[in-house]
Amino acid sequence: MLTASSAEERERAAVAQRATFHQLTATVEEETFRQSEHARSFVITGNPAHVIAYEREKASLRSVEQRIAHLNDAGATESELTSLRQAIHWADLLADEQEGAIRAMKAGDSKAATAILFGDEYGRELDRIAEQVGKFRYMLDQRTDAAVRQATDSARQWRNMSEFMLGATALLFLCVLYFILKQRILRPVVRLSDVVTRLAAQDFAAIPPDFPQIDEIGDMAQAVRIFRENGLERQRLEQERDADHATRDRLSRMTQRLQGCDSIDDLVEVVRCFVPEIAPGFAGKLYIHDMRRNAIAQACDWLSPKQSLEEFSPSACWALRRGQTHKPKGELIDIPCEHLDRERPAPSICIPLMAQGESIGLLYFELPEENAADRQERMEKYLEMLAENIGLALANLRLRDVLREMAMADPLTGLANRRRFDTAYQDEVSIAEQMQAPLSCLMIDIDHFKRFNDSYGHDAGDAVLRAVGGILGDALREKDCAFRLGGEEFVLLMPGFTVEQALERGRQVQERIRKLQVEHRGEQLGMVTASFGLANYPVHGRAGDLMRTADAALLRAKALGRNQIVVATVREDSSIVA
Ligand code: GH3
Ligand code: MG
Ligand code: MG
Repeated sequence: MLTASSAEERERAAVAQRATFHQLTATVEEETFRQSEHARSFVITGNPAHVIAYEREKASLRSVEQRIAHLNDAGATESELTSLRQAIHWADLLADEQEGAIRAMKAGDSKAATAILFGDEYGRELDRIAEQVGKFRYMLDQRTDAAVRQATDSARQWRNMSEFMLGATALLFLCVLYFILKQRILRPVVRLSDVVTRLAAQDFAAIPPDFPQIDEIGDMAQAVRIFRENGLERQRLEQERDADHATRDRLSRMTQRLQGCDSIDDLVEVVRCFVPEIAPGFAGKLYIHDMRRNAIAQACDWLSPKQSLEEFSPSACWALRRGQTHKPKGELIDIPCEHLDRERPAPSICIPLMAQGESIGLLYFELPEENAADRQERMEKYLEMLAENIGLALANLRLRDVLREMAMADPLTGLANRRRFDTAYQDEVSIAEQMQAPLSCLMIDIDHFKRFNDSYGHDAGDAVLRAVGGILGDALREKDCAFRLGGEEFVLLMPGFTVEQALERGRQVQERIRKLQVEHRGEQLGMVTASFGLANYPVHGRAGDLMRTADAALLRAKALGRNQIVVATVREDSSIVA
């Protein structure tokens, strides 16, 4: 544009130069002809005023020469100046003739003067000057026209070029603007809005793009990142809360089932079913303390634990020793339990099952390897709650068993009591009837027992009862049962025994009782004898009448003088008599 502007400038300068040259040459031409006119007017009129005007013009002609110098300064070429100089030279020659004519006129020779100034020669010289000036003008016009044309062409070219450049620049600017808009604004905004839409739909797999620039886009990206992190945290908390709800729900259901357990087997089944659900991934075992053998015995396992013995002594587990949860591996390194692999103990947790300060069992868990620390910490709380609930249920079952035992046992002799007899008798009777198997019932009553009380005191009587109870307890096979029915009355139920077998067993018992040497407070209490009534199913009638029949036989033994066994008899009509 600058170049175009400068070309236009040159064009204007060329035009201005041509105007200047025209004006100057016109002046030269006009003044030459005016001078000639003054000389001619003087010759025609003889008026000296024309001479004066002629002289003034002549003086001014000199200043025209000076202006030719200005033409040079204004940029006229040498050939042009030469042409103009020629015209001026001819004008000078013409001036000599004019002066000659004026002199002739002044001398009164108007004819000669007229001949000079109005002759053909003079006219040709005037034309020659005009022609020379015209030639100069022509040269000038040619040159200036060429210059103007060139300047105009150049200006047009440069203008076109500048317009083209301007257009190209504008296009480039628009392209750059579009590129910037798309790259820096449009695309990031579209990506961010896409991510925000997905995040709003809880799709946290959408990762916000990383725009590190410090501008609005960078700020937006940062805001979206924070939004996603908050969303993720909220989702994690919700999942944790839901998982906690689910775990607590399972715990509560397990507790309800545990409360409904009637036996250790029920409890073991509930544990095996619920624990892997409550603590997923935590393989483990339930141990129950076998008090009689003082051993920790495995009751069940889940999710295939790799370690821990099936049975071990309570002292082999640090959790049982200390009555506290024991976790050998973790933040606090501790001694591994002996029931684990000594070389490479598994990461595990032992939680004792406690009841009134006494360990009644153990929950053993192996920690899943890929577990996050915070999840494990939460799970450990649930494991302890589990242990608490299982321990409580186990303690209840044990207490119930103890109470049942107590309710069913005779505290003095250790034999089963009347209550137990009632159920056992019903059971054995129905089994015998169903199986058509023999069942013998031996009723025993100590003879004149009252005398021991009367003679030696109630405690002595108790000692006799304990001694007789001991003999009956020893006389049992595995399937037999001995009961103390009350006072000094006992009964032996012998499933599968015939009359003969039962009689033999009765005789052994009778013999042992007779040989009893009961001592009380250093005093021998004297001989103890007992009377026996024996009845058998099916020999002596219906199974349901067995006890009544045996009792009748016992009464007969008493009546017959005591210290004897009476076997029930069968009447012809199948009714039984003692
Ligand atoms: P019989 O030979 O006819 O069977 O006479 P008996 O004395 O053995 O029978 P009796 O029914 O007359 O007396 C039973 C006594 O046993 C009455 C009661 O005071 C006593 N007795 C009942 N239970 C106990 C007990 O637990 N300990 C003691 N020491 N005596 C008891
Ligand atoms: Mg009695
Ligand atoms: Mg008696």
